[in-house]
Amino acid sequence: MTDRPVLVVNSGSSSMKYQLVDPDAGVAVASGVVERIGEPGAAGRARHSFAGNDTTFSGPIPDHAAALEVMRQLFVDSGRPLRGERLVGIGHRVVHGGDVFADPVLIDDAVLRQIRAVSGLAPLHNPANLTGIEQAARAFPGIPQVAVFDTAFFRTLPAAAATYAIDADLAARHAVRRYGFHGTSHQYVSGQVATVLGRPLADLDQIVLHLGNGASASAVRGGVAVETSMGMTPLEGLVMGTRSGDLDPGVLLHLAGPGGLDPAGLDTLLNRRSGLLGLAGTNDFRDLQAMMDGPDADRAAAARLAFDVFCHRVRKYIGAYLAVLGRVDVITFTAGVGENAPAVRAQVLAGLEGLGIVVDADRNAVRSRDARIISPPDTPVTVMVVPTNEELAIARATVTVVG
Ligand code: ADP
Repeated sequence: MTDRPVLVVNSGSSSMKYQLVDPDAGVAVASGVVERIGEPGAAGRARHSFAGNDTTFSGPIPDHAAALEVMRQLFVDSGRPLRGERLVGIGHRVVHGGDVFADPVLIDDAVLRQIRAVSGLAPLHNPANLTGIEQAARAFPGIPQVAVFDTAFFRTLPAAAATYAIDADLAARHAVRRYGFHGTSHQYVSGQVATVLGRPLADLDQIVLHLGNGASASAVRGGVAVETSMGMTPLEGLVMGTRSGDLDPGVLLHLAGPGGLDPAGLDTLLNRRSGLLGLAGTNDFRDLQAMMDGPDADRAAAARLAFDVFCHRVRKYIGAYLAVLGRVDVITFTAGVGENAPAVRAQVLAGLEGLGIVVDADRNAVRSRDARIISPPDTPVTVMVVPTNEELAIARATVTVVG
């Protein structure tokens, strides 16, 4: 076991996920989640995994400071206490870096001010990320804190890809542009592709499909992001578990007019009640696939339609990114659905032989946690499944920043 681990923290408004990562071996030493932070009474709970055993907590967790104390105690209870002096650093996932942050940074007061300044762009996420950082700095004084931004990998988007065609002054005043999200995953996966294939990253034109509960696609030329499907917010692009993805903006006008929805109602509809959930009543892909084969014909038809809409949207983006790149060497599936749903991979890429894109049925059916090629040998485009690991990417970025 490493002597110099990194603690990775992903702090949400009511939950905090963490992993103690050995960045050299590329493994999580321990991990856990603290949930229902700030809920009244003793509703809080936490689960911690170390060496194949789970340790749990339930009781009051009034705030993020308490959540960190719970985490620290769970490390003690599990038999492997977390000793601050041995941490290389603490790496924090921060959702929005605005147009300020193109790389991970060591957190100081100026950085905290800048993260706060762009928080209006991610009001649900950045304030919670900031609270996590501030409390971790208090709980582990003297340990370097590093911020790794979901948007950073997409700071390289060309202006033509990052710009919305609306009044330019208004857009500038309100920082309305395309930022992209899931960048840590797209960067990690596109880098892994080069490593696994044993080819220089600089030589590869790639399309990466991150299909999880949130979903996004990117076009990556030589390791540099040139397009991505999420925009100013994570709402744009692919169909997701509970988010609509692309929509005619006129739909919003219609729903706000005759539909009578106010901004909060639209937010709830598009972020929480749309996507697979809106179409078929579940945002869990496993449940969706079970429903497709289930006894209830109406539910099966709704699930089938949701599945088809999901796959069609991904396919449409692949076509778009082929044109953006002009050519493609590798198409890669990642995240919960991308890694585990062969039926999605098969349907998304069916009938594209004319473009040099083929999925080998046997290779596609293999269940594995390893990165793998699912196209036949000697086809022009390599199709891969590569497990994402955002925590490892954040841990390695933390080591690089701390030096
Ligand atoms: P996020 O990190 O965005 O919460 P994940 O990347 O963990 O999401 O992906 C979650 C999604 O992956 C869920 O819809 C889940 O049902 C789906 N998923 C996980 N395992 C499988 C599987 N074996 N087959 C199909 N879908 C799966």
